[in-house]
Amino acid sequence: MPKKIAIVGAGPGGLASAMLLASRGFAVDVYEKANRIGGRNAELTLGPYRFDLGPTFLMMKFLLDELFQETGRAIEDYLTCIQLDPMYRLNFPGKSLLARSDPNDMRVEIERVFPGEGAALDQFLKRESERFEKLYPCLQKPYGSLSSMLSATLFSAVPHIAMGRSLFDVLGKYFRSEELRLAFTFQSKYLGMSPWDCPGLFAMIPYTEHAHGIYHVQGGLCRISDAFAEVAREEGARIFTSTPVHRVLTKNGAATGIELMDGEKREYDEVVINADFGHAMSTLFEPGTLRKYTPDTLKRKRWSCSTFMLYLGVDKTYPDSDHHTIIFANDYQRNLADISQRKIASEDVSVYVRNSVVNDPSTAPEGHSALYVLVPTPNNFSEIDWEMKKSDYRKMALQLLKERSVFHDIEEHIVAEQIVTPADWERNSVYAGATFNMGHNWTQMLYLRPHNKFEEVDNCYLVGGGTHPGSGLPTIFESARIAANMLCAKYRVPHREATPYGQIAFAEPAQ
Ligand SMILES: Cc1cc2nc3c(=O)[nH]c(=O)nc-3n(C[C@H](O)[C@H](O)[C@H](O)COP(=O)(O)OP(=O)(O)OC[C@H]3O[C@@H](n4cnc5c(N)ncnc54)[C@H](O)[C@@H]3O)c2cc1C
Repeated sequence: MPKKIAIVGAGPGGLASAMLLASRGFAVDVYEKANRIGGRNAELTLGPYRFDLGPTFLMMKFLLDELFQETGRAIEDYLTCIQLDPMYRLNFPGKSLLARSDPNDMRVEIERVFPGEGAALDQFLKRESERFEKLYPCLQKPYGSLSSMLSATLFSAVPHIAMGRSLFDVLGKYFRSEELRLAFTFQSKYLGMSPWDCPGLFAMIPYTEHAHGIYHVQGGLCRISDAFAEVAREEGARIFTSTPVHRVLTKNGAATGIELMDGEKREYDEVVINADFGHAMSTLFEPGTLRKYTPDTLKRKRWSCSTFMLYLGVDKTYPDSDHHTIIFANDYQRNLADISQRKIASEDVSVYVRNSVVNDPSTAPEGHSALYVLVPTPNNFSEIDWEMKKSDYRKMALQLLKERSVFHDIEEHIVAEQIVTPADWERNSVYAGATFNMGHNWTQMLYLRPHNKFEEVDNCYLVGGGTHPGSGLPTIFESARIAANMLCAKYRVPHREATPYGQIAFAEPAQ
């Protein structure tokens, strides 16, 4: 009899686990409280306009390729991924830099905007490739015990982890101009952190962008979750939407199954939790079950920032726009301090805009655009009243688009609109509205991050952004693979281990 596994949550982490576990012969049931799958990686539609609710940057696509291969499939049969070139535009006050995927083009662009600094790109790529090679394998392993911190992989990575140094310290050293330094460190925002707080080892993120590219998925990155679900179902998994789990049932410190909201109890050999970590710890266990992750200890953790979102259906196109544009605040460092330290509503915000129709006409009717606008904000420990503040944020975001991007006349062309505030994220099961989960500071990483094999309850595993290795899509996919491999090891199910970094076949760079 195959072992029975319940997965709580159909976000990308839960669905990737479902796909891997079902393809290895486990009997998998996925329970999702929403009426659709995908979690923060779901699709949001406004009439004919189609948006990604959350993730829009796909990095380390090689990892996604490998997950499909592990199930005996080719990603191309499920997803059309295109490498973006240009990758994104960065608008600083008075300067604009177009990040190119080809290093030669990128060097030329750096020289154009920051004369005399182009050659530093080569030093960045050379040195950071060494760091990536050593650190990437550390993300592929679980750290469930202190002794796991003594592994040879981690030891050989130690000289590269830049302990005690921030991302800005580590990468800032390649470049002289402040804006260029930001162009290679703003990526800490993908983790909901500031480059001045984010540990230096995350130099891996800008490196992987420039070395391995950024991808779009036709139809939106939400198609990734759809594809995982499709494969999982082909392998026999069942996915129940509109089926919230009330509790993970436990006996003698081990999970025994789940209880649904209507009181029905279902037995399982193992439970995999994909629901947002803070939310799951606060709601899924009978009070008193957990000792390490209680309401008090959760409050004392460091949580990522949140995001204010505008999804806009627009009745015109902007042929000069790029797929991704980031507009930096006039005083970016202050803006980030407002978000993560002072926890106040900034008056000088940064804005990210994604205009998918430039590469993907399927996301809006002909002659129209679907614009995704994201403003980083404090998480809900700020106690900002978002009902009061949301019109200010809308105004500030549109003003910035008008003044510092090609979307000058956007306001007159909005025909459909939805706002999502940090309060909305929290209502949708995201603890404290911290959209990028628990922060990635040193005290919350590796062994110190919630473990993939949950340390408080046996027969229970965590997948998704709240566990190791972290909160972006590639790390979420790794968390799913780590948990699936641990379960296979437990039940002696043959499985393929992750490909060592040196043997990964990378796609040719975009021409
Ligand atoms: C605005 C935004 C932009 C982002 N941009 C990027 C990006 O560009 N690139 C990138 O790599 N990452 C990005 N991320 C981060 C990350 O990739 C996503 O947040 C990702 O969707 C998180 O996946 P997950 O599997 O951890 O959890 P989630 O997507 O949150 O899924 C968890 C699921 O569990 C369900 N659930 C909760 N409680 C229960 C319950 N009791 N019973 C049943 N189901 C339950 C939820 O409804 C949800 O569907 C972004 C995130 C956000 C929010």
